[in-house]
Amino acid sequence: MQIPPLHYTIKPCDPHAHLYSVTLTIMPPSLTGHILSLPSWIPGSYMIRDFAKNIVELQASFQQKPIAAKKIDKQTWQLEPTNGSITIQYLVYAWDLSVRSAHLDQTHAYFNGTSVFLKVSGQEEKPCLVTIENADIPEAKEWKVGTSLPCSGAEQYGFGQYKADNYDDLIDHPVEIANFDRVSFTANGIPHDFILTGLHHADLPRLAKDLTRICEHQINLFGTPAPFQRYVFITWAVGNGYGGLEHRASTSLICNRSDLPNKNEQDIISEGYKTFLGLCSHEYFHSWNVKRIQPDIPYDLSKENHTPLLWAFEGITSYYDDLTLVRTGLITKQEYLELIGKTITRIVRNPGRFKQSAAESSFDTWTKFYKQDENAINAIVSYYSKGAIIALGLDLLLRHLSDGKINLDQVMVLLWQQHGIPQQPVKENTIQDLCKTLLKQLPNTSQDTISQLNLYLENSIYGTTDIDLENLLAPLGVSLNFRESTDINDIGGSEKRPVHNRVDLGITYTTDSKNGVLINRVINGSCSHTAGISAGDQLISLDNIKITSSNLESLLKQYCPGDNVLLHAFRQDVLLQFNIILKAPNTDTAYLSISDENKLTKWLN
Ligand code: ZN
Repeated sequence: MQIPPLHYTIKPCDPHAHLYSVTLTIMPPSLTGHILSLPSWIPGSYMIRDFAKNIVELQASFQQKPIAAKKIDKQTWQLEPTNGSITIQYLVYAWDLSVRSAHLDQTHAYFNGTSVFLKVSGQEEKPCLVTIENADIPEAKEWKVGTSLPCSGAEQYGFGQYKADNYDDLIDHPVEIANFDRVSFTANGIPHDFILTGLHHADLPRLAKDLTRICEHQINLFGTPAPFQRYVFITWAVGNGYGGLEHRASTSLICNRSDLPNKNEQDIISEGYKTFLGLCSHEYFHSWNVKRIQPDIPYDLSKENHTPLLWAFEGITSYYDDLTLVRTGLITKQEYLELIGKTITRIVRNPGRFKQSAAESSFDTWTKFYKQDENAINAIVSYYSKGAIIALGLDLLLRHLSDGKINLDQVMVLLWQQHGIPQQPVKENTIQDLCKTLLKQLPNTSQDTISQLNLYLENSIYGTTDIDLENLLAPLGVSLNFRESTDINDIGGSEKRPVHNRVDLGITYTTDSKNGVLINRVINGSCSHTAGISAGDQLISLDNIKITSSNLESLLKQYCPGDNVLLHAFRQDVLLQFNIILKAPNTDTAYLSISDENKLTKWLN
């Protein structure tokens, strides 16, 4: 066998100190000295994370003698020139409890290549060999390897040698090492593994059965063959957690163990399981939309890369994640409409939607969406939720303008065929152009039809006014309704009778026994905003009665909209008093109801 020019060996060398050891052998010599670096972000999660800060020690050697490795910026090393192969050894600290970096202790080892594998400048396109070794602790005796990296000598799920085509490939296959549980299934003939680490009582055969439906539906939507030879769901069940990250042939997921179906539930689908299946569906859809249908950005992992298109890559994916669940019969139409109602509610409760467009939200994700502060609700809009609603509106509008002949599925298939398969990056106007191309293929499409489409796309993507969903949903037999919230936990989606004379302070807050009520956010336009209450204020009393960690909502029930109340609060260590004229809740809680089942079926089947 020819020796690949780059060979990485990784070992969870000290699980108690959360340290991996990595050895990298670089075969080609460099007469100017190799330059090594670690990415500062991981694709799919648009925030600078500076993974190189976790490299604890780095040494380079040539013919068993140390050579200089000079650090030239926060994530880059310049090595001394040599005329032969060299070896670099380093330790990586791994204690990030998320799908975005690396984690290691005596219960499992998890890593993304972006956290552990140094890039060698100029050698990015070269194939790599990766040797994965086991930890030398008694707990690791039963550990196995779960990854979509292809084996190159190692047995499936075993330690040993794996391979990657190039650096991009190397960092796009996360690895889970543990005594995990596994269920395997095929979708359109492609082998899939669902591997599960952590304490759980999950019904794995049911997960396999339900995921098969999701995977087959999406493969068929874009058209066979699927763009991977094998796919792995790497899942980590915890007490309280949620997250996922997409990769080219796998996904890393973190979920509440209570969200997984247990053997006693049979065919009942809990709210938690709905959320989990939605997450699986979302990340799987990304295998096409963003992993292969990609935005026109350089993917320079040393710094931020801006695109106005995350509304499409995250929003369209968010639209299809739950749509897949209803189309495959995993949830009912009514349950699906509830999920849309909740998404609309989330957007409509955000005054920030009038300040930032979906395109701006995409562009500024690095500093705004991923770094949200107390004012985010007033200043930004989520390209996930708004993007999902743009996609919903676009799907409905295309159906309307084409008399049911064209829908968003066809746009996605064209995107796949013209941009995914041939790896042609998506430009800012690509999706708009594809929609128009499809419509113009119909004999009856007039200039007025194209103008209506243009207007919708311009307003929804670049504008900050609300999308007229009511008129878009009506022809599909669905009516959109708004009501007041009934309590602070009301997240919308379903019809509820309003609470008579309810008042709403227009704040969100946390409670604990030490601080009582601590304000997180004040919504602009609310009565609290008008009175001058701020994030960080600690509420003390309402009309001179002490506010505790549990009584604020019951105290407010004594009042009606229009009442004048006196509120005391500490801002840092200064006592302030506020006169508030209480307001009724806004009618910002959305729910959808079915007015014509037959028309609805055309959309959701
Ligand atoms: Zn996503």
